[in-house]
Amino acid sequence: MTERILPLASTMQDEHLSLATLLRHATTWYADAGEVATWTPEKTTRMSFGELGREAARLANALTALGVVPGDRVGTFQWNNNEHMTAYVAIPAMGSVLHTINIRLFPDQITYIANHAADRVIITDGSLIPQLNAAIGGMTTIEHVIVVDGHKDEVEAPSGVQLHDYRDLLDAQADEYDWPEIDERAAAAACYTSGTTGDPKGVMYSHRSIWLHSTAVCASYGLGMGPNDTVLPIVPMFHAMSWGTPFGALMSGASLILPDRYLQPEPMTRLLAEERPTISAAVPAVWIGIVNHLDAHPQDISHLRHIACGGSAVPLSLAKALDRHGVQVVQAWGMTETSPLASIAWPPRGVTGEEAWAYRNTQGRFFPGVQGRLVDDLGEVVPAGGEQGEVQVRGPWVTGSYYSPEGSEPVGADKFEGGWLRTGDIGKLTADGYVTLVDRSKDVIKSGGEWISSVELENEVMAHPAVLEAVAIGVPDPKWDERPLVAVVLQPGAEVTIAELQEHLGGKFAKWQIPDNWAFIAEVPKTSVGKFDKKVLRAQHAAGDLSVVHE
Ligand code: ADP
Repeated sequence: MTERILPLASTMQDEHLSLATLLRHATTWYADAGEVATWTPEKTTRMSFGELGREAARLANALTALGVVPGDRVGTFQWNNNEHMTAYVAIPAMGSVLHTINIRLFPDQITYIANHAADRVIITDGSLIPQLNAAIGGMTTIEHVIVVDGHKDEVEAPSGVQLHDYRDLLDAQADEYDWPEIDERAAAAACYTSGTTGDPKGVMYSHRSIWLHSTAVCASYGLGMGPNDTVLPIVPMFHAMSWGTPFGALMSGASLILPDRYLQPEPMTRLLAEERPTISAAVPAVWIGIVNHLDAHPQDISHLRHIACGGSAVPLSLAKALDRHGVQVVQAWGMTETSPLASIAWPPRGVTGEEAWAYRNTQGRFFPGVQGRLVDDLGEVVPAGGEQGEVQVRGPWVTGSYYSPEGSEPVGADKFEGGWLRTGDIGKLTADGYVTLVDRSKDVIKSGGEWISSVELENEVMAHPAVLEAVAIGVPDPKWDERPLVAVVLQPGAEVTIAELQEHLGGKFAKWQIPDNWAFIAEVPKTSVGKFDKKVLRAQHAAGDLSVVHE
């Protein structure tokens, strides 16, 4: 790495980028203009940004009264709702650390991350008490559990842990708080990876990294959020900070409509009809469900200007289906480790038609806060426009390590190399800077010494009209080392033969790449954040639980 130089000091103020400043800005200047709302089938509960500021002050006063001090971790175990948003703004602004716990992890993983982060307090939704109870017994650092909208007595906490009702606790507090001056390098929020390919690992975002990332979220080359937008983050607030949409809303004055636990296509389409959001964000599986539902129950969703989609590759067939509904899908790529937005696929200026689709079908160009490069198996940097390699990134909103409490073994040190994060994603890069992910290095299929992209196979199979979802894995083969297996979920009532699917792939893949192992399944196993869970499928295959047809 070359050394950083400071030839002549500037005259600019050394004002740090703090979420306390962001809170003051949004809740003062957008006090009445911005709104956060929780949608449920029964009612929508609305809160102005002004009221959000007062609620945040009440929560900060309550946490302070419970003994929480700057630097302490406070866990949230919540859906996307007003109270979670209050925690999002209050906890970092008081100098403490918001630890968003993924409610869909296995109970022992939840216990592990709460202990690893040393959470002192957990705020839980009442509707999630059963999931929390499955994990709370082994939690060794928590002292308080605060229950939103539920019965605190139902929490089966270890003895000594105090239980509180959220509303009672906040109602007893003043609605002003003396937010501190915070060093921008201080940790503001913690998020653990969802463990798709290993144990959850912790990332600590700083005030500075969140601030800078939020500017990119709002920018027109990002998610394009402004004061006239109503944003529907479907991606959970416990998954990679809901892709930055909550803080982006504070920064831009956009309103948020939050779906709580109503993520299924039926309530979601009702929410769309009632609230008419202009921007949304979710993983492909969510949109596949919504588009499928709309086929049977037509409804205009063109109030959505665009939707951000990522977390796994966006099937072109899905993007085209949404286009027919008048909604532009913008594919984004990122990871918990990258805050998460690292690249986004707006097509280049002046490009239209099929050429534009080709660009939109990539993972896009890196954000200005993210430098990216490809590195081959020998550790050599691959030039743009060349061969594929591992995507490596660095930048002010990319983590430089995983969180290891003082005195503990460093976690995942092998994921970093000379200041670069090794993403484990294999990609190609065009000369004009568009990255296309070929696969995760752990998912790519190696057949007869040659690579087959599981992602490309899945996308093409899903482009067949009879197919709802498809997932491809490599399975052991005595002759070729590995051969692809595709597990297919059919559209309701549809029929297709394996020969027809193979023929469909014919024009797109070389003969030897065409899968000879197929399974028809009722549902694709999914991870805690809605990605195809290939670990589970591999285990099912190894245990002989998949009925595989070899053709
Ligand atoms: P986990 O690593 O536990 O799955 P993350 O949500 O941080 O949790 O996942 C990041 C990974 O998701 C990326 O490394 C990449 O493999 C995958 N991913 C994210 N966005 C895309 C995308 N648009 N296309 C393909 N893969 C994606």
